[in-house]
Amino acid sequence: MNFKNGLELETLCLETGKSIAQICIEREMALTGWSEETIRAEMRKDYDVMRLAVDRALKEELHSMGGLLGGEARKLQDRLNAGPTVCGPWMSKAIGAAMGVMEVNASMGLIVAAPTAGSCGILPGSLLTSAEQFDWSEDQIIDALFVAGAIGLIITRNATVSGAEGGCQAETGSAAAMAAAGIVSVLGGTPRQTLDAAATALKNVMGLVCDPIAGLVESPCQKRNALGTANALISAEMTLAGIPSIIPFDEVVDAMYKVGKRMPMELRETALGGIANTPTGCAICSRIYQ
Ligand code: SF4
Repeated sequence: MNFKNGLELETLCLETGKSIAQICIEREMALTGWSEETIRAEMRKDYDVMRLAVDRALKEELHSMGGLLGGEARKLQDRLNAGPTVCGPWMSKAIGAAMGVMEVNASMGLIVAAPTAGSCGILPGSLLTSAEQFDWSEDQIIDALFVAGAIGLIITRNATVSGAEGGCQAETGSAAAMAAAGIVSVLGGTPRQTLDAAATALKNVMGLVCDPIAGLVESPCQKRNALGTANALISAEMTLAGIPSIIPFDEVVDAMYKVGKRMPMELRETALGGIANTPTGCAICSRIYQ
């Protein structure tokens, strides 16, 4: 049950009649020698960490190490509770959850770095909110996480999920692709549609640079996680409406990697370009390191 890219994964699904989640679970079984039950239980631990991080950000006053963020999840929740929101209730809830998980990360709390710590809010924000909205069973949430894992694995094998290597497109873009695929798969999308959702999410942020102020994974990272969550939901919605990706997933991954490699090093997590290099960004950096 091995696959190197999206085409091989889709072919495996068509030849065996199995879902992407099932193929991923069987791949893990072959690699570890564990039972399906154990492998699902391991993924459930990740799900629990994600859930607890969202809950924690809504309950506690969290302070980031660099002092650039804290309390955003609760502000969004307060606004949601106060009345209509610009984004609508589910989107507002999703981006609030994503920002909350980033607060936990920036205050050195426990998160699931899927695919990285800098993008850790996107899977919980979009998947857990979708699970609540559509009343998914725990098994369906676990399936969505395995599908997300398949997309992350393919991107890692053929490109990168690292902001330092490929810019923020590679980090938050990959997380959005993973989440969009997980949502589409659980909501009945075909393997092709699942890959299309991932392709759409990656395309939507192609060229996005990595420019954290003071080199800390706080700003603009937290807001990019909100954007990534919205990107995942938008990409899933378009795909499930029957709007395909014109460019196949594997080609998009390849294009994203090539764009990343052409980015100057100032725009790849060095804090020497983008918003990190604005007068305010530089002043904040000086204050933090004085
Ligand atoms: S700006 Fe850089 S460090 Fe921040 S989330 Fe994007 S890739 Fe990660």
